[in-house]
Amino acid sequence: MNLRVLGCSGSIALDCRTTSFLLNDRVLIDAGTGVGDLALDELAQIDHILISHSHLDHVLGIPLLADSVMQRRLAREDYKPIQVHALPATIDALRRHIFNNVIWPDFTRLPTPERPIIELVTLEVGQRLSLCNLPIEVLPASHTVPACGFGVATTSGWWIYTGDTGPNPALWQTLRGRRIAQLVIETAFSDDERALAEISRHLSPSMLAAELAQLDADTSVAITHVKPGEMAAVTGQIAALGIGLTITALTRGDRFRF
Ligand SMILES: [Zn+2]
Ligand SMILES: [Zn+2]
Repeated sequence: MNLRVLGCSGSIALDCRTTSFLLNDRVLIDAGTGVGDLALDELAQIDHILISHSHLDHVLGIPLLADSVMQRRLAREDYKPIQVHALPATIDALRRHIFNNVIWPDFTRLPTPERPIIELVTLEVGQRLSLCNLPIEVLPASHTVPACGFGVATTSGWWIYTGDTGPNPALWQTLRGRRIAQLVIETAFSDDERALAEISRHLSPSMLAAELAQLDADTSVAITHVKPGEMAAVTGQIAALGIGLTITALTRGDRFRF
């Protein structure tokens, strides 16, 4: 599997893009501002978008992507709508708050209800599905809104993305005994803002350490979703904790092969 990190920041600023990962050029995991760096031809190749939860930093690329690629996709002989996969509460939020003909046109019925550019598809935690030959599992997450993470089975083991989450014992239970190629886990705040991390169901470095202590696999860990301006504090605090795993910070533009 080829993985491109289009965005891995907790918010926007110069050179910071919000969460989006591109798998094998065809499957997008979350649709943050990183999507906007793809060329039009690359955008038009995306057949599936998996969404971890309804927060704006993860969904705002969907309506704009749909608009950008509509003519190209409709012109294809093998026309299919872009499938957006998410939990029922997330689908409901997209319908009510994005594709509501106020914030954005309802692209689930445009350009015609018979041939729309977007199709919304519900997921449930624990579900396994295959998209463009990628075996994908929907993983539990614990956030302020219904949320999930995603795992992809690769030849090197599982690639795991936690999504936005606070402490998440169900995830470590689910991953027990598995070979993990890479764990992408959020660390949104520094420990100086641990109280805020707890209220908003995110992680800070000391909370990350408590989570990783429940991981039984020896794997490379990549942190994501760090707020702009917090990277030095977060990585410094993680190093000081001496967690004992190889922990790096994802960088926009990173490419991996698993
Ligand atoms: Zn969130
Ligand atoms: Zn987020």
